[in-house]
Amino acid sequence: MLDYKKALKQCIKCGACMSVCPVYQTTRMETDVARGKLAVLQEVASGRMSLSSGVSETLSRCLSCGACAEVCANNVQSDTLIRYGRQQNFLKHKPALSQSLLKTITPEDMSRNVLIKGGALLEKLLCKQIPESSGLRLRFPLSFFTQRSIIPQVSISPFLEGYLPDEKSASGKIRVGFFVGCGTNYLFPETGRALLDILKEVSIVPFIPEQQGCCGVMAYMSGDQQRAVALAKRTIDLFSDHDLDYIITTCAGCGAQLKALPELFETESERRQAERFSEKVMDVTSFLIDVVGYEKLAQSNEGRSPRQQVSKDSPVRVVYHDPCHLRIKQKVMEAPRRFLRIIPGVELVDLPTHCCGHGGAFNLSNYSLSMQILDRRMSEIEQAQPDKIVTGCTGCLLQFQEGIQRIKTEKRIDVLHPLVLWKQQCL
Ligand code: SF4
Ligand code: SF4
Repeated sequence: MLDYKKALKQCIKCGACMSVCPVYQTTRMETDVARGKLAVLQEVASGRMSLSSGVSETLSRCLSCGACAEVCANNVQSDTLIRYGRQQNFLKHKPALSQSLLKTITPEDMSRNVLIKGGALLEKLLCKQIPESSGLRLRFPLSFFTQRSIIPQVSISPFLEGYLPDEKSASGKIRVGFFVGCGTNYLFPETGRALLDILKEVSIVPFIPEQQGCCGVMAYMSGDQQRAVALAKRTIDLFSDHDLDYIITTCAGCGAQLKALPELFETESERRQAERFSEKVMDVTSFLIDVVGYEKLAQSNEGRSPRQQVSKDSPVRVVYHDPCHLRIKQKVMEAPRRFLRIIPGVELVDLPTHCCGHGGAFNLSNYSLSMQILDRRMSEIEQAQPDKIVTGCTGCLLQFQEGIQRIKTEKRIDVLHPLVLWKQQCL
């Protein structure tokens, strides 16, 4: 607590974070920028203010993107401090039903999660019954509970149920584990399939524990430390003792969380075990470009004609969107672009990088604000007239699916993961 109070006081109120915070840039409200939130948290820490529902609301209006910490000259880890504030808030206001629901939506073992497998059932059972103001909404990673114009479909054949028995144990010169994540398993299983196909091209079969579950990012960002730790322990146990060189993810949110696992643990031995796990975690495009090798991948595509082109001499125009959890939290920007540039028949259009406004729980608790941030991003993207929007994060993929509906364009614009674009064009 002493360190926390000290860290809060490190903010010198310079306002540099105002220029990068997507929420503040949209609302211009002081309580929406890191500086304002930290001021509120200082009041709470000093006892002059209580953790009221107003404070809770203020804390929810943060995308956990980390842009404020990135530009802060005084090295204030604002996103971490806001998360700590959420933890205190969670301990104080823990809704009675939240733990059982959270267990459902952040499954420990996806192979046993009957409720999520029946997405329609889930929607029917839970969605309509939970009011907008409920804290339960903060803990649901999908978008069933909101006034979205589209509802993402839960796959009737989740990724973890659909791969072949001979794809179950690691083989190849590089020993790789695949952390699937809820988004890839239930919503975008084609991303997992594309990964297996691309790895096969370079003679790698990854280790994929069937009983794996959620990375815990939603629990962690919402302040449920206990749940996040339980999920982290399970994941670390499942991947340890398999002599893996790398553990790859196809979702920026999962990757950022898995890399941050050591900070969840208090004992030295647990932290060290988490560090051994986390240092192997890599985003899939970094792995393919930096470990498998750009040259090797480029060679595998040499002489291949693209499967799709707009016309004979006209490549597919692709906008790549940087997920905050990849660009800011994992410092990965070049690898996805290099990966996309070696896909035949693709013209990569580079745009200034801005947040899409999803932010996991933020999208659910602050839907209209999330849509305002999205609309701004969509207007930038629309001007580039892309055929496809490509991004490596489940939350961003969901957000852009919504964005396409909102701009009501007659042109068909697909939203997909870089791996799926590779598969579409090459395999
Ligand atoms: S940039 Fe850092 S020091 Fe400046 S106001 Fe924001 S959090 Fe405070
Ligand atoms: S983490 Fe992102 S949304 Fe939250 S205060 Fe910082 S810049 Fe704003």
